[in-house]
Amino acid sequence: MTPSPALPRGPWQRAARAAGLLQAAQVRPTIFAEMTALAQRTGAVNLGQGFPDTDGPASITAAAQEAIAAGANQYPPGPGHPDLLRAIADHQQRHYGLHVDPASEVLVTTGATEAIAAAVLALAGPGDEVLTLEPFYDSYAAIIALAGATHTTAPLHPTPAGFALDIEALRTAVTARTRLILLNSPHNPTGAVLEQTELAAIAAVAKERGAVVVTDEVYEHLTYDGATHVPIATLPGMGERTLTISSAGKSFALTGWKIGWVSGPAELVTAVRTVKQFLTYTTGAPFQPAIAVGLDLETTAGPDATWLTRQAASLAARRDLLLDGLHTAGLATATPRGAYFVMANAHSLLTGPLARTGISTGADLCRALPELAGVVAVPATAFTTPGSTADAGLTNWLRLTFVKSEPVITEAVARLTALSR
Ligand code: PMP
Repeated sequence: MTPSPALPRGPWQRAARAAGLLQAAQVRPTIFAEMTALAQRTGAVNLGQGFPDTDGPASITAAAQEAIAAGANQYPPGPGHPDLLRAIADHQQRHYGLHVDPASEVLVTTGATEAIAAAVLALAGPGDEVLTLEPFYDSYAAIIALAGATHTTAPLHPTPAGFALDIEALRTAVTARTRLILLNSPHNPTGAVLEQTELAAIAAVAKERGAVVVTDEVYEHLTYDGATHVPIATLPGMGERTLTISSAGKSFALTGWKIGWVSGPAELVTAVRTVKQFLTYTTGAPFQPAIAVGLDLETTAGPDATWLTRQAASLAARRDLLLDGLHTAGLATATPRGAYFVMANAHSLLTGPLARTGISTGADLCRALPELAGVVAVPATAFTTPGSTADAGLTNWLRLTFVKSEPVITEAVARLTALSR
């Protein structure tokens, strides 16, 4: 493969893992960087990046300020602040009936991103396959490449009711070399919330092939229309082979704090901790006790006790606003039942008002959209491997976030509707 001209040449470029990383890096961050630059230059409404435009509960931010004032400013313990480890274990028990020992089966990380990175680096290497759903969150491909492992995928297909896993394709994709199955539910970018039948199929194939499951559940509390998030660790025989990852960023609208965690069997958590200690060692001294306060909120009678359910209801309303607006603009969608994003099919725009403009794919459209309509979206193909089944099916699709205030969403859809006329 061709090395990026921006990177210095050197012997390391011959390493398979560097080549793989370069490949991942060349395809992915470029489009995000390009979109952000375009948004800034054109002043477009940015539905590209998935971060909230309002902060999370005041009781959590106040707790962090108090922790700083009280002197929580030096390295916290490597595995995590004891209050947070205890609060995470309580949360897993309270919500899912999962029993984890705070001392040996929980690890605090620098966001879910570090937990995913440390888990993949600890458990997979050259000759191993790591299977993800496709489309996939962009850090997965890069970290699998860094580990020197091979990335395989099982596609999620769009239906009007939402994206669904191709279970047959999953069974075929998992092989004797599949060391890890890296799941994500609720799912970015599709909003799919894996159902019992899908989870049971994944669990069966993981057990059959002896694979470890690493599951990214950062959107665990953001589900809509009565969809229930079920951690795969709760399925029979799965607790012993599953690492469950989450983060405070999405649940509490505090994405910049980067407090994440992983829980699971002690041997697997120890393996992750071994790698994690050489990535960041430890993070976020004042934020860790504050997130412990956040996780405990729902057990209190304070004003923020119902934050999680109110946040999910508010996001469901904003999702509906975006869905309605996209339908008015003539775009087809696959209703997301979780997470931060709507996937929309721009086929009608590409073959209607934009026919003969030379704009023929979702990626072309996203590059043109800030100038054409004053809106930023991300092409679905930023989350696929070029040439894959999922990639081919998503050529015309865009990802738009609804974790923005209602006036921002209303303005974006008005602009898209004007384009469609
Ligand atoms: N996993 C998924 C699926 C995500 O969407 C994100 C954030 N965009 C992350 C992980 C990263 O989480 P954190 O900020 O806690 O590292």
